[in-house]
Amino acid sequence: MDYKKIISTCYCGNGADKLDKARSLLKSYGDLLSGEARIKEQLAVARAAVSLLDTHMTAMGMGKTCTACAARPGGGCCSAYMGHENNDALLLLMNILTGVDVRIVREDEIECCFLAETGCILLFKPIFCLNYLCSHIQEGSNETELRLLEQKTGVLLSAQGQLEQLIIGFLQSQDE
Ligand code: SF4
Ligand code: SF4
Repeated sequence: MDYKKIISTCYCGNGADKLDKARSLLKSYGDLLSGEARIKEQLAVARAAVSLLDTHMTAMGMGKTCTACAARPGGGCCSAYMGHENNDALLLLMNILTGVDVRIVREDEIECCFLAETGCILLFKPIFCLNYLCSHIQEGSNETELRLLEQKTGVLLSAQGQLEQLIIGFLQSQDE
């Protein structure tokens, strides 16, 4: 698959289109991708980075802040626009490869289609979602907490980016 085709098919469409594309890639290349040693290793590195970030977010009480925010009229920050625009098929494929049951959990076109009652179903989240630091969190946290949050988010983004590049490289190699 050439680079232009990857870009034109994996990064376009709404959340459901991108999930269809991820499932189609899984059908064609899932076994090969799962058997690639470097991809397996990088999936483990990215999962470890998610775990470290989650632990820090829990220690900061971010879950409680977001739950309170989402319960208010107008909801939280996970809008339908975010779900459609910020995701891509490769990110969804990465989630599926690591065992997440990625599916459309709502179709109300108000909230993100990946936002379940218990929160985001994705283990690997879009860059924008990971980088988003709202005023509630900024005002409710101290400098050390925010600095650590930024550092752990950076480690995860880098791990996800490397994983994405490995998958793109793999897809490109299938044309050679
Ligand atoms: S990140 Fe901020 S705006 Fe989004 S749900 Fe949490 S508290 Fe609310
Ligand atoms: S964090 Fe998850 S649920 Fe929220 S907008 Fe991003 S992908 Fe959607």
